[in-house]
Parts: sequence; structure tokens; C-alpha cells
Amino acid sequence: MAERAGGGPPPRLAPLLRWARRHIPLAPLTTWGIGGPAEYLVTPRSVAEAADLLAAARDEGWPVYFLGRGSNVLIADAGLPGITVHLTRFCQEIHWRDDQVTVGAGVFLPRLAAVLAQQGWTGYEFLIGIPGTVGAAVRLNAGTGPGQEMADRVVSVTVLTDDLEVRTLPAAAVAFGYRSSLLLQQPRWLVLAATLRLAERAAPAALQAAQRDIIQKRRARFPAEKLTCGSVFKNPPGGPPAGWLIEQCGCKGWAVGDAQVSHKHANFIINRGQATAEHMQTLIKAIQAKVWQEQGVALEREVICLPEDVQGQT
Ligand SMILES: Cc1cc2nc3c(=O)[nH]c(=O)nc-3n(C[C@H](O)[C@H](O)[C@H](O)COP(=O)(O)OP(=O)(O)OC[C@H]3O[C@@H](n4cnc5c(N)ncnc54)[C@H](O)[C@@H]3O)c2cc1C
Repeated sequence: MAERAGGGPPPRLAPLLRWARRHIPLAPLTTWGIGGPAEYLVTPRSVAEAADLLAAARDEGWPVYFLGRGSNVLIADAGLPGITVHLTRFCQEIHWRDDQVTVGAGVFLPRLAAVLAQQGWTGYEFLIGIPGTVGAAVRLNAGTGPGQEMADRVVSVTVLTDDLEVRTLPAAAVAFGYRSSLLLQQPRWLVLAATLRLAERAAPAALQAAQRDIIQKRRARFPAEKLTCGSVFKNPPGGPPAGWLIEQCGCKGWAVGDAQVSHKHANFIINRGQATAEHMQTLIKAIQAKVWQEQGVALEREVICLPEDVQGQT
């Protein structure tokens, strides 16, 4: 199991970890159902509580990892050393102001889509099919296609920086790109909230019907199996989509252990039950090698591997 050397928490961290749970399996907190235990799992109840914890962890040199709904991460079989901060019950507020809404980082995207539809605001129907939190969606610029990304709707993002300063960045400063943003280069920044633009109105019933239609289309297109993480690879810029490239290389159905490339959509890898992070990593690398060899395209992972992609977020 991944543990830091040096035993229990130092005096400054000990009281902050009083309610933390130890050696908690992370697999059930991810949509792939993969990952070893967190050394300490903490669910902060307020920004102040999170800030105290991050400050102490930083000063004591303890690694920290952020986890939302776990729908875009591959957690190592050895688990995560130090502190994993689970953010699903954190920052749940939704504040309306004229033509803007400020949404807490922990809000579940399908819930946000439903609330906006109920209030008669259009433009957010695409969020109904993305099973993550607002915080991670902003960081990764989640979306379903051109004009339907977080970047197209965000006015500003509020973060807690590694200096523990609460800062509100206008969208231009967040430097959104395809499945990327400045926040990916700042893994120690905790996203607290996003302010979104409310531009157009429509009848709630029509928006709810549009959302049902999106869900049906996604069901038809994507694998029905529960244990996936959505698209594993980013679509290469200006070229054919990753799924098409993988399919052309004959990788559909490829398997390592219980990790298998979906027969329905080649950019999805399914956990058939007992897949490990090692199986996933081996399969991901084999697909990348094949696509490079046959198509001359270097596929970039969309899914984030913890801890290696983020070496300690404080
Ligand atoms: C079935 C399925 C379909 C999907 N479809 C889509 C799709 O259409 N489009 C799309 O873009 N994605 C899609 N995804 C991927 C995923 O849902 C999104 O990337 C989502 O935004 C991830 O949110 P999360 O809360 O699960 O993040 P997690 O997986 O928990 O975390 C992702 C990363 O963000 C970091 N993080 C989490 N919260 C915060 C925070 N508050 N502040 C700072 N860092 C944070 C984590 O440390 C990690 O590095 C799909 C996934 C599944 C399983």
C-alpha cells in the first residue's frame, strides 16, 4: 500500500485528520472501480476546513490528491499516499444573480443540467451525460463537442491557490483549450466554484425532452457497461477521432486481464470486473503503440493517472 515514510501525522496535522478515514479503498469512489486505498481520506465540510488542511499538509510536506466523482481518473493499485480530499459533498451551493449563476465545485453536472432546465435556461443540456463534478469539469474543460464545452459558458472560476489565497479568475485567464486549461498546470489549486453565463431561455419541458434525447443517444453510442471512465484518449487535433483510429488498428475487443476495449466504442475501455490499474496501463500503452505504429498518431490520454500525473497536489 502507498504510505509515506515516517509514521503517523505530525502534531499540526493530527487534529485536522481526527475525522479522516484511514486505508479506505478508493475503487468504489471511481467509475472504473479501480484503485487501492487512500492512506487518509478526508471530506471537508467548508472552504476554511479545506484551507487549514491544505496549509498544514503543505507545511509538513504531505502529498494531497483531489478526488471528485472519480469519473476521469485511474488510481494506482497501491493507492494514494498522504491525504485524499474527497470533494463530492463540498461546495454544493448554487447562487443565481441576473444573467449568471455561481455553482459550487462539488455540484454533480447532471444535477446542474436538471436545475438549469427546470429554471428554463438553455445551453447546458449537454451536461446531463457527463457524470462528474463542476470543479473537475472546469479544470478539464469537459464537454461533448464544439460549442458545448465548459469554456463556452464560464465567466469566471474561483480557486484556492497553493498560497491559500481565494482568487477569482476571468475565463480568459483560465486559458481553456480542448480538454485542457491553465488549472491542469496548477494541480495544487483547488477549484471552489464557477460562474456561468445564462444567455437564453426556453420552456423547461422542451429542455427536459432535449436532455432525455441526449441520454438516449449516448446510450446508443456508448457502452452500456457501468465500469468505464468515458473517453480514455483525447481526439487528436485536426484529425480523425481517437475512437476511429483505434478501431482502424483492430484494437476493439483487445484485453489485458479484465480491462477490455469496448466493442461498441473503441475509445472506451471497460472494466469487466476485476481489472487492475496495471491491466489498464498495459492496455493503454499497447493501444498507443499500435496507433502510433499504424497511423503515425501519438494518442494523448484524457484520463488522469494518480498519483503519477499529479505528484502530490500540495
Ligand atoms: C460514462 C462516462 C461518460 C463521460 N462523458 C464525458 C463527456 O462526454 N465529456 C467529457 O468531457 N468527459 C466525460 N467523462 C469524463 C468525466 O465525467 C469528466 O472529465 C468529469 O468532468 C470528471 O469529473 P469528476 O468529478 O469525476 O473528476 P475526477 O475524476 O474525480 O477528477 C479528475 C481530475 O480533476 C481533479 N479534481 C477534481 N475535483 C477538483 C477540484 N475541485 N479542484 C481541482 N482539481 C479537482 C482530480 O484531482 C483529477 O486530477 C465521462 C465519464 C464517464 C464515466
